[in-house]
Amino acid sequence: MFIQGEWVEAASGKTFAVTNPATGAEIGRVPDGGAADATVAIAAADAAFGSWSATTPYERADLLLRAWTIMNDRADELAELMTTEQGKPLRASTFEVGYGADFIRWYAEEARRLSGEWLPSGRSDQRFLAIKQAVGVVAMVTPWNYPMSMLTRKMAPALAAGCTLVLKPAEATPLSAKAIFEVFIEAGVPAGVINLVTAEDPAPIGDVFTSDSRVAKLTFTGSTAVGRLLASKAGASLQRVSVELGGHAPFIVYPDADPDNAAKGAAALKFLNAGQACISPNRLYVHRDAADAFIGTLTKRVRGLVTGNGMDDGVGVGPLVDDAAVEKVAAQVDDAAAKGAGVPIGGHRLTDGGLDKGHFYAPTVLTDVTADMTVYREETFGPVAPVVTYDDVDEVISLANDTHYGLAAYVYTDSLRTALSAFEALRFGIIGINDVNPTSASVPFGGMKDSGLGREGGHEGLDEYLETKTAGISLR
Ligand code: NAD
Repeated sequence: MFIQGEWVEAASGKTFAVTNPATGAEIGRVPDGGAADATVAIAAADAAFGSWSATTPYERADLLLRAWTIMNDRADELAELMTTEQGKPLRASTFEVGYGADFIRWYAEEARRLSGEWLPSGRSDQRFLAIKQAVGVVAMVTPWNYPMSMLTRKMAPALAAGCTLVLKPAEATPLSAKAIFEVFIEAGVPAGVINLVTAEDPAPIGDVFTSDSRVAKLTFTGSTAVGRLLASKAGASLQRVSVELGGHAPFIVYPDADPDNAAKGAAALKFLNAGQACISPNRLYVHRDAADAFIGTLTKRVRGLVTGNGMDDGVGVGPLVDDAAVEKVAAQVDDAAAKGAGVPIGGHRLTDGGLDKGHFYAPTVLTDVTADMTVYREETFGPVAPVVTYDDVDEVISLANDTHYGLAAYVYTDSLRTALSAFEALRFGIIGINDVNPTSASVPFGGMKDSGLGREGGHEGLDEYLETKTAGISLR
């Protein structure tokens, strides 16, 4: 763990093992922190806040640019670590390192644009000034599925704003978090400004984060259930909160779209990170006229995917995070098949060729999916593409919106009118229009409904770490 500028053991002296999800092999051990460690880390962040928030945005921007350079210089080594710890194919890890680094550059640039407003008054002898200042100490909780970019997406804007922080990474990927901290440390972040607490049991840390009055803000990325729990505890402490949670993305193929192109997009998107992405499509609504062609191309593409250890050449789909994840996927597929879904490809675990040591499930296509199937309602977080055939174009938006999630949605159409109408009508925070990668450091990312509160990325991502202060000034 990294507290007050030092790498330290847990107060208890305990450690826990980190394993490779492709092989089951232990790849390292990290300190098993607890409530006492979290409290010390918060004290360090609190003590550092005064001097860090008083640095100029130019100084903070320079530091972030150094971190961006270091992260890029280490791209190969970071990507290998990520694949070994999290499982995604090396090419995908390399992409994530670049995506993660881009948040650092973006917020280095945004830092220098921190400014205020000079505002008028109804009184001729009065003026107003409104400025933005760092909120204070930020507690951060991050997931395992994007174990580096989900950290930089929080740390870079927090540091740009002048906040100090304590971060607890997911128990499956603490080594990736450690490597990201090393990047910022080498860039010269002063002692106490960033603190890392690793723990096998996250609950005591979450309790400290949401009850310590020195924590001004909680930012969380992970499941809706845990986000709801932490946000409600933080609410009781009147901490500022942003939570990026689960999703259940619809992917709508209109009859005027090229079904072949849409299926290629769906195949590329759905099996990224073995489907373990919050913006992964979970309901593919394909118009009946396009269904045969779409399912044909999708199945063909899936047949071409190689599943295995992400370090091996040619592997396009890695393991799932753990055995519970494989069981959840298998249960959803079995439930759908029992209720009448077709399974043209996949539908089983993969154990041959040494895969039995890891957590592998075959990339799967489900057809004739209906609303009574679990997969239609619950986030799968696995390599399963459920295709729902629809007839009525006027109904498809309300079908797509019929979920308590509201993170991402995708639309394939050749009509500008259809695309823009869908963009406005879909109750989701991120819409891909004939596009399967609607994310970037430069744009706001976040969800509606049970998919979260707040936005990360873009200008809005910086505001999450800022407080507005107003001065009324008398000219009398
Ligand atoms: P999770 O909620 O189980 O874990 C996320 C983090 O919360 C981990 O660090 C974990 O240790 C911690 N945590 C769990 N219980 C806690 C507690 N009681 N107190 C404090 N911390 C606690 O989620 P996960 O399985 O790691 O991640 C998958 C989920 O994350 C999916 O639902 C996915 O959609 C979502 N996700 C969302 C986004 C987004 O930006 N919206 C991005 C990535 C992942």
